[in-house]
Amino acid sequence: MKPGIKKPRPSWAEPYKIKMVELLKMTSPAQRKKIIEEAGFNTFLIKSEDVYIDLLTDSGTSAMSDRQWAGLMMGDEAYAGSRNFYNLEKAVKKYYGYKYLIPTHQGRGAENLLSQIMIKKGDVIPGNMYFTTTRLHQELAGGTFSDVIIDEAHDSTSQHPFKGNIDLAKVEALIKKHGAEKIPYICVATTVNMAGGQPISLENLRALRKLTQKHGIKIYLDMTRVAENAWFIKEREKGYNRKSVASIVYEICSLTDGATMSAKKDALVNIGGFLATNDHDVFEEASNLVVVYEGLHTYGGLAGRDMEAMAIGIEECVHDEHMKARIGQVEYLGQKLLEAGIPITEPIGGHGIFLDAKRFLPHLTQDEFPAQTLAAEIYIDSGVRTMERGIVSAGRNSKTGKNYYPALELVRLTIPRRVYTQAHMDVIAESVIRTYERRAKVKGLKMVYEPKYLRFFQARFERLK
Ligand SMILES: *Cc1c(COP(=O)(O)O)cnc(C)c1O
Repeated sequence: MKPGIKKPRPSWAEPYKIKMVELLKMTSPAQRKKIIEEAGFNTFLIKSEDVYIDLLTDSGTSAMSDRQWAGLMMGDEAYAGSRNFYNLEKAVKKYYGYKYLIPTHQGRGAENLLSQIMIKKGDVIPGNMYFTTTRLHQELAGGTFSDVIIDEAHDSTSQHPFKGNIDLAKVEALIKKHGAEKIPYICVATTVNMAGGQPISLENLRALRKLTQKHGIKIYLDMTRVAENAWFIKEREKGYNRKSVASIVYEICSLTDGATMSAKKDALVNIGGFLATNDHDVFEEASNLVVVYEGLHTYGGLAGRDMEAMAIGIEECVHDEHMKARIGQVEYLGQKLLEAGIPITEPIGGHGIFLDAKRFLPHLTQDEFPAQTLAAEIYIDSGVRTMERGIVSAGRNSKTGKNYYPALELVRLTIPRRVYTQAHMDVIAESVIRTYERRAKVKGLKMVYEPKYLRFFQARFERLK
């Protein structure tokens, strides 16, 4: 273990038992070579049934509990005022403390509403590293995203325990440059996805609150992985060891004005999200807008049953035992890879392991798409599906049309919640290690089709000769 980061004792184990299973399909290497070629070397374009262990994303891939499945049966499918909406509203108030709730079909629905309401043309929205859909909605609303995460976040070898933290000097410089009136809010993500699932500290959030309040700038949380962040605070931040995940989550939210949530992650459901706020004006405008984009303000594009499962998931995901096993499993896989000398982002993140493709395939230039290439190679090796988080995901600057060249060129092995076992983790580690052993022979890719928005989802590639 790294200094400063304590390993939880005693060891983790799943705080549940299995009562239903889903069989997996095995394929041969020859079949997989053909499949990945037909998918344009993009793991998003592979059929799920051709995948053995699916680490594409932790989004909407959680296993729901028997209580959540029972909740589905309690769906009140009324167009207006479904009882499940009120249960969800109660859960959001109880666990997050926000006054007003607008459900949305998923996280980006909430991002769209928040961006349309808060951002005027020419505004600047600081954030702790970009997220694909978040930044796109800010840009579509006429704003510009500005990265204010600490520099350590861009260095996959830095051992900083809170690499999601915000650099307050960067925020102050932005305020000086543009004026506080051009900064409607700062978007703070918990366990920063693009930095490798790295947490923010409460100390940092408190200091940010003090700074932004002075200038009348709001804080909106991207609370997609807030419970995982709370676990890291419990483990790493002074004074929080004895606090529950639930109480830390509540404290994080209390330092903000509202939040967007993709409930498909921490909240353990297959679909759903919301916008929450303490600001009545924002709530009123969101209630108007949601009807245009999602549905009535008491269902926001969801079935009643979906809202019920979400309400239950919100409660289950802040159980300490759940979070200990969740993060423990990711940590187990990460340690195995570190022991084999595989270059990964450290410290080990919350929702997955991020392979450093620049160090894994040092003979490829970033224009040869090292992370995209590596994801394809791992699939060919074992049928384990991962995804690119590098130059393809970063896309192009919407004004200049030039490619962004992100410092981090990563392959994400995202671990779905409550889905796979420790034996699956062993198989995954072995596949990555095998791929590492033959890395010198791996050739890069060229892009042959590029969609206009969020290109990583549908871009196609061919292998370089
Ligand atoms: C997934 C995600 C979103 C978008 O949510 P969707 O439910 O996929 O629309 C926003 N922010 C972060 C950090 C995410 O991981």
